[in-house]
Order: sequence, then structure tokens, then C-alpha cells
Amino acid sequence: MTLIISNTEITAKNTCDKLHDYMYLQNLEPRQYSLSIRRGVIGHAVLEVYYTCRKDGFNHYSAVESAMDKLYKIIAESDPDDVEHTTMLGQLAKLLIRYFQYYEYDTYKILAVEKIMTAPMVDDEIVFGLYVDVLAEITTGEYRGYVDIIDHKFVMNFKSIDDLRLDPQQPKYHKTAQLNGLPIKNAIFNQIRFRQMKNPTDEDLFKRSPLLSSQTAIDTVWEEATQTAEDINYEKSRDRHITRRRQSYSACKNCFFKDICMTELAGQDITIMRQAQYQIRNRPLKDWMLSNA
Ligand code: SF4
Repeated sequence: MTLIISNTEITAKNTCDKLHDYMYLQNLEPRQYSLSIRRGVIGHAVLEVYYTCRKDGFNHYSAVESAMDKLYKIIAESDPDDVEHTTMLGQLAKLLIRYFQYYEYDTYKILAVEKIMTAPMVDDEIVFGLYVDVLAEITTGEYRGYVDIIDHKFVMNFKSIDDLRLDPQQPKYHKTAQLNGLPIKNAIFNQIRFRQMKNPTDEDLFKRSPLLSSQTAIDTVWEEATQTAEDINYEKSRDRHITRRRQSYSACKNCFFKDICMTELAGQDITIMRQAQYQIRNRPLKDWMLSNA
């Protein structure tokens, strides 16, 4: 059976075997994600509406109206007693209105939105899959006719140059586009900064950061990701999964599974905690791949 693997699964496996076990073998996710993740999910949904409208030929103003309608509907349906969540939605609305003003004169032609792309890693045994937020054609200048893969990131602070050089996602997206024969110019992080600041400029809030890696680095990231995918596939084929805990500050501090991991580590019963705090994860990428197999 073909293993369908995403950047998130490879990162999870490289971060901590136990984290990978919770996410991809037990298929768990928290019932309630952090505010930061909820902001990102809602922000993506609003941008999806905007860019879908642009792809379908709507002008900027109609697309903004449809996108903001989506957000206002989410706000209307949210729990008014959840002050933290409601405040976040209000701040997000202001931020996105400003985003749409800032990028009003984007010259991109939008080719696809929320598109699944795949590329073989090991023949038809292991396939890499990803969701492209936006696939856009460059319409002006030297690279006219080339395409960019754009990934939205809602961030507290913009990524540093080192963060970008060591990022494992953009090189895989770039490589996938290359393997699909697309005239790829860049994988781009469309960074939208939600940190509350006094009188921020547009440049404090919005930044599009292209892939900084060389072709050698792209190929190396792909090769190393393939090795991780082969490890996962090997463990699955033998039904002997490594579930060793990493237990490092950097891995554990933001881990969704910290509570259940500690409880299990202490030898205590996790049955009630598992039911109360976690649910079975939706895996639309895998579902789509299986339905098209
Ligand atoms: S809390 Fe740490 S050790 Fe436990 S699953 Fe998460 S990353 Fe791994």
C-alpha cells in the first residue's frame, strides 16, 4: 500500500517519535487548539475565499467583500462569552482588511487555491503530498510566465534569515513543483504578523519571504525527507513502531500532547483524559489520495 506523507508528518517524526505516534498512528488531535492555531485556521479560510474569487475572475473589491463576509459569519457564530476568542476575531478582521488594502495591486494571476499536489518519493511506494494555499503566475517582469507557490503564515514575529534557510517546508514544496514540471520561480511564505503593536506600518505587518535555499539544499532536504519517510514506511511494514520520547525543551514546550504524554509516562490511566481532551484527526489529504488511488 502506498504511503502518503506530508511535510507535517516528516517534521513530527523528526521532532519526536512519540509525537508522531500520537498524531499519525493513533490519529489524535486536541479537541481545542490554541488561540494562535485557531487564528491561523480562520485566517486561511478567509484568504481562501479571497483568492478563489480572484481565480474565478472577480475583481479585488468583490473578492474582499466575499472574504470578509466569511469572517463576519464566523464572528456571528462564535461564542460571545469566549472573550479571548472574540477579541482575536476582531483583531483578525482589522488585520485582514489592512492586508487586502496592502496587496490590492498584486499583479499575480491566481491559478489554483487549496490545491493538492503530489510527487513520488520512492517509486509508487511513498508519495509526498501537500496543500498549496495559492499557486500564482507571475505576470510582469523578467520572470513573467513562471509560478510561485504561496503559503500563508500567521506569525507573532517574522521569520529570521536563519529560520528561512533552515525551514524544511519550502524546499519540499519547490521540489514537488519541479517534479510536476511546473516553471517554479519561488516557494513563498506570505507572512501576516498578528502581534499587537502601537501604530504598526504595513511593513511591520506583511512580508512575503521567498525560499532562500540553493538547488543543492533543496535536493538535500528532499533526500533527507525521503530517508525519514522510508523509516516510517519500514516501521509500518513490520508493524513495529518506535515511540521513543524526545523529551527536549524545544520539542516539548509547544507540544499538543504534553499532558497525555506526561500522564502516560507517569504510568497513570489516560482513558478519561484521552476522551476529554483529544479527538480523532481529520486527514483530508490521505482521504483524497485513497479515493483517487
Ligand atoms: S511532550 Fe515531548 S516527549 Fe511527549 S510527545 Fe510531545 S514532544 Fe514528544
